[in-house]
Amino acid sequence: MTSPRFEEGALIGVLTTQPLDRVLDYRAPRGGCAAGDHVEVPFGPRKVTGVVWGQGAGDYDPAKVKSAIRVLDLPPMRAPMREFLGRVADYTLTPMPAMLRLATRAPGLTDPPGMRKIYRRGHGQPARMTPARARVLDLLEEHDGLGFMLGELADLAGVGSSVVKGLVASGAVAEEEAPRDVPYPPLDPDMAGKALTTDQELAAARLREGIAAGRYGTTLLKGVTGSGKTEVYLEAVAACLKAGRQALVLLPEIALTAEFLTRVEARFGAKPAEWHSGVTTTERRRCWKMVAENGAQLVVGARSALFLPFHDLGLIVVDEEHDTSYKQEDGVLYNARDMAVLRASLEKAQVVLASATPSLESWVNVQQGKYARLDLESRYGPAVMPEMRAIDMRTEEVPSGSWISPALKGAVMQRLERGEQSLLFLNRRGYAPLTLCRACGHQIGCKHCDARMVEHRFLKRLMCHQCGETAPMPETCPNCEVAGKLAAVGPGVERITEEAQALFPDARVTVLSSDLFGSARALKTRILEIAEGAADIVVGTQLVAKGHNFPKLTLVGVIDSDLGLQGSDLRAAERTFQLMRQVAGRAGRAEARGTALLQSFQPEHPVIRAILSGDEEGFWAAEAAARRAAGVPPYGRMAGIVISSPDMQQAFDLGNRLARLDAPLRRIGAQLFGPAPAPIARVRGRHRVRLLVKAEKTAPLQSALAEWAAQVRVPANARLAIDIDPQSFL
Ligand code: ADP
Ligand code: ZN
Repeated sequence: MTSPRFEEGALIGVLTTQPLDRVLDYRAPRGGCAAGDHVEVPFGPRKVTGVVWGQGAGDYDPAKVKSAIRVLDLPPMRAPMREFLGRVADYTLTPMPAMLRLATRAPGLTDPPGMRKIYRRGHGQPARMTPARARVLDLLEEHDGLGFMLGELADLAGVGSSVVKGLVASGAVAEEEAPRDVPYPPLDPDMAGKALTTDQELAAARLREGIAAGRYGTTLLKGVTGSGKTEVYLEAVAACLKAGRQALVLLPEIALTAEFLTRVEARFGAKPAEWHSGVTTTERRRCWKMVAENGAQLVVGARSALFLPFHDLGLIVVDEEHDTSYKQEDGVLYNARDMAVLRASLEKAQVVLASATPSLESWVNVQQGKYARLDLESRYGPAVMPEMRAIDMRTEEVPSGSWISPALKGAVMQRLERGEQSLLFLNRRGYAPLTLCRACGHQIGCKHCDARMVEHRFLKRLMCHQCGETAPMPETCPNCEVAGKLAAVGPGVERITEEAQALFPDARVTVLSSDLFGSARALKTRILEIAEGAADIVVGTQLVAKGHNFPKLTLVGVIDSDLGLQGSDLRAAERTFQLMRQVAGRAGRAEARGTALLQSFQPEHPVIRAILSGDEEGFWAAEAAARRAAGVPPYGRMAGIVISSPDMQQAFDLGNRLARLDAPLRRIGAQLFGPAPAPIARVRGRHRVRLLVKAEKTAPLQSALAEWAAQVRVPANARLAIDIDPQSFL
């Protein structure tokens, strides 16, 4: 497809990242331009960049239309990418400038190369070491060999740029001219992969066929953790690279990328390009450019990698496709899994959705014939799924202030005697979820949010999990000022760690929780140590449920299996089912068969029973039937609307006005609920009011919502956010 060309002076429409709701008219610059070209244009007194979107609309005074300044030295945005941005904008009701920002989020794209200097560890040592200097050097060492821009390095180390300059003078930091962005080392798809089992080979062959066909298709690749899903989809990557096309692998967590990069290197002889928030700005720009210039064959990244300007994208893998972190909850509210399918359909690419516990959405899409499905039936090697049992907490004698039942204690004892590892799982960070004054009953809450402050005893602070506010633990009650009466109520992982240490004084107990590690690298190091046997008992949050390998682990004890079942969230059952199975999957990956013990006060609850029996298809079918009966996703459509404002009355007034003006919604048969205070009614000092819209699957929801919301003017300090297919109901 060739993009239309515009001769110098012709009227063109340019999409910029300026928050305006239209494409602006300009005249084509000297030498002309084509649709998709990145251009620089005058905008008031400034110059801004944009993309030529097509012909100008011509509805602006021709005498006032200015000329674009120049075409930038960047690969043009291809037509499928422009269409993708437009379709995501329509689907998520996002203005196009915000979409363009998402697609050009690489700093310094337009800088000429000579302007940039980068800084990395030099050979010298500073004459005198100061804490600030040490922070800079530690940071550089932690990112071995990587170059940083000056401002970035200073910011990350929390020092002024003069500190960096001082280190340059002593030779401890090297200042270099930034090299032109260079292509990534080539990956060799012809290197031999592992010898696949029959199951795996069958699945790999089907994926290769899809790639060879050169058209769109989506396949759900389902298999328990350790069944070789990664090995299988790496075969699809190999086929894609052999076909000369690019591949993208999305991972839900940065902490998982390091292990994956190593596997790619072993399989293809070099590391792929990386795209996520932990990558330096220099590397981000290189990645963006090389993806566009076909100098990167494979990208491993977080959800926003979906908006990279691929030259010829042939495959998108969404690993752990059920993971909730694929939903962006800030700014552009998109679900990367669903948008991956859209992008692939526009690029004639294949999608592989890999999971041990697929989302109900994907399961239903398979039932309806929209997606293909491949199953890996067993774990690779001798390991089998763990034996799963419930511990009925109603009959266990557990002293108050304790959470580990005698039955679970006995099982851990056995593992200790055999030199095997146990995992105690609780999806709650911190020491205790609630701090209560026993004198007056006061609960310590956050100043800015309607949320409790959570005690983090290891960090010696209280922390708000909504806004991140921290405060020292007070000595006296902030309400009644009585001293020594503040008590921790309920368990978090830190408290379970304390209990485990007391129950098993000779065991090495360690805790894995995201807040206890300063960097992804520190966390990864600790995980590797644990995998090699540096602990006997691991106490962890859902962090441990995500794909890490612990070969010596043979017991998983779930402290509170009922925790996820209490929410009002329509996905509560699904989430609990997925999480419990993921966690149980940590047990017994190597030779020894594992056991998973679920502490529960309601062991006959259908979800707990389904988890124990392992009847996944039965669970999905029942869950699907319930959702269909209720007319909720994936059988009906939903949109969540959150209005927030520093002024509660203002937020409610706006919500009430919207509720009265519901004609556009009624016209498509949609139902409107609310306004009501959001479950967390105040975050960071802003009051939050929610409305919920429910519609039939086939109803034109987006256009109705757009028409509906356009009837009101949102006051300057208020915000109205529309979330299509909401995942979180907070
Ligand atoms: P999953 O992605 O389903 O969790 P992996 O692909 O990570 O599974 O496989 C689990 C482990 O088993 C990995 O260490 C992997 O290298 C190994 N493995 C899987 N299949 C094979 C095979 N056919 N030959 C050798 N090792 C394999
Ligand atoms: Zn807060």
